[in-house]
Amino acid sequence: MRIAGIQKTTLLDFPGRVACVVFTQGCRYDCYYCHNRTMVPGTNLGFCIQNSFSVPGTDLFSFLTSRVGLLQGVVVSGGEPTEHEDLPELVDGIKRLGFEVKLDTNGSSPMMVDELLSHHLVDYVALDVKAPWNRYREICGVRADPDTVEQTLHLLQRLDIGWEVRTTVCPTLDEYDMRKISRQIGQVPTWRWNPYRIPPLYKKSDADRVMATCASAETLRKWSIKLQVVHRKIVVG
Ligand code: SF4
Repeated sequence: MRIAGIQKTTLLDFPGRVACVVFTQGCRYDCYYCHNRTMVPGTNLGFCIQNSFSVPGTDLFSFLTSRVGLLQGVVVSGGEPTEHEDLPELVDGIKRLGFEVKLDTNGSSPMMVDELLSHHLVDYVALDVKAPWNRYREICGVRADPDTVEQTLHLLQRLDIGWEVRTTVCPTLDEYDMRKISRQIGQVPTWRWNPYRIPPLYKKSDADRVMATCASAETLRKWSIKLQVVHRKIVVG
């Protein structure tokens, strides 16, 4: 398991919890708008603590132990955490310290999600559904497989834990695409629409679509109102 960094506190990433975020290193997707591009290659950036302090030599569990009683939850994000075979051991260690765990995943490893769920190792899951199934590889790279995302979605639909679907409304998604995604996900507890932000790093070949005009917040609100009748809860932003 390679840990790329920690955000020491967040009030936004784990619904109802004060949490920190642990970023794992590596992701087989290649989303053109990725904001964590330095975590996409499998290279080890070493351990660092982001967000106001850096402690050379500090390890993850020393940090987490120091936060017992101060934080309620730990978000395990990436990169893509489910690509790591030792994720269950990591999460088990976090839960033994008394934290609740939220998993952020792109849905590429349904077997790993199944293992975590069947051992009650996660309390909340945020699943990215990034595009209509037929446009997945165009937006997320050739190694993205929409079938695995659909399998992960079906796993979550059968379980009684908190979960949500997230979609970044990037410039190459329009209202028609959002309707298609709506149909493919069906009823979900929460569908979170993340407004697009230009990534700090991107490939030169992606410059046109990275810089393309995206839907405004007002436009997203209008699209979401039309789809609210299908979904119990759409959160924009
Ligand atoms: S799945 Fe997430 S980490 Fe991986 S390339 Fe896409 S946005 Fe980046």
